[in-house]
Amino acid sequence: MSVSIQKLRTEYKSLCRELGTEGVLNTVPQAFGAPQVEIIGDNYHYVVCERGSEYERKTTTDKQELLYWLISDVVSEMAGDFELKHRIKGCVFAGRCLHATELCRQVAPALESKAPGHLAACHYAPKGAVAA
Ligand code: SF4
Repeated sequence: MSVSIQKLRTEYKSLCRELGTEGVLNTVPQAFGAPQVEIIGDNYHYVVCERGSEYERKTTTDKQELLYWLISDVVSEMAGDFELKHRIKGCVFAGRCLHATELCRQVAPALESKAPGHLAACHYAPKGAVAA
């Protein structure tokens, strides 16, 4: 048996608060493609509409599964925001490369030919070196 939209909204907001963010549970189509929730009988519907067209509809009788879909969207948005705020100007590997220098963190290396048929984007990859 499904819960009311109000109880679902309360639970969703509580989960969002635990993640340190605000949660808005939409129940009507959103112009910008944000998901909405519909409860029809015992089924929960996760629906994505944009500009009057339905792009996605997932249906479940499991409230936890619906909340998982909704919270996955929240986490994905949080991860995207984090990445934007912490975007690395230089080489994308600079945060985990053992050979990274200040140059790597400040300047993105250009993709260039290091050997016939071997392209690399690394400030320090020697010319002529090809991985086996
Ligand atoms: S440019 Fe090369 S050495 Fe520098 S961080 Fe990237 S992969 Fe590592």
